[in-house]
Amino acid sequence: MLIIFGFRIRLRTTGQITFFCPKEGGDRLGDQRVARRWFTIFFIPIIPLNQVGELVECTSCKTRYEPHVADQPTTASLSEILGNAVRVLTAMVVRTGDPQDAAMREAAVALTRTVAADYDDATLTGDVMAVDPAYAEQYVAPLADGIQVGGKERLLSDLVRVALAAGTITPDQRRVIDLAGRGMDLTPAHVTGIVSSVASARSPEPQPPQPPVPPADGGEA
Ligand SMILES: [Zn+2]
Repeated sequence: MLIIFGFRIRLRTTGQITFFCPKEGGDRLGDQRVARRWFTIFFIPIIPLNQVGELVECTSCKTRYEPHVADQPTTASLSEILGNAVRVLTAMVVRTGDPQDAAMREAAVALTRTVAADYDDATLTGDVMAVDPAYAEQYVAPLADGIQVGGKERLLSDLVRVALAAGTITPDQRRVIDLAGRGMDLTPAHVTGIVSSVASARSPEPQPPQPPVPPADGGEA
């Protein structure tokens, strides 16, 4: 009798993870699978041989990915990272400006409330004492590949607006904004462009209230 033997690859599921499925563009459940070569007799796997690879298979669209797909931050963890970055960078901007400036603090609390609903001035005081502006870059580094350029521009623009609520950007505040831009892989020229476009979009330097100007004689009102 002729014995038919051969080799076959079998996949075994070893676990499940939540990962960002690039094909579908969202967080999905993925099967972590190990591919192993088997020795077969009459097409029946008999002896497990070497492990030939690992993969992650999306349970939704069945696309198979290299295991490193799981290294990409999920949307959920990205929004957490972004929320933390907004909160920490805002506190850094306040710290490197005049931390007592009421208008700037108000702008800072308003911005941070977009990511932490119960944020208030007392929390800001704690954050301002806790943050170290030298680490601005690290806080946003995970966002470099994780969010679109528009999102990065918006984050920096929001920080510039907080600084400008006090009337001007101090050199130390500018340094925080530069570090944040660099952490997200924006070029220095790009960051400068964002800062100047926000600054010029604002009404010119805050002026003391002017007395109303009476219409010129004979002019149309
Ligand atoms: Zn998928």
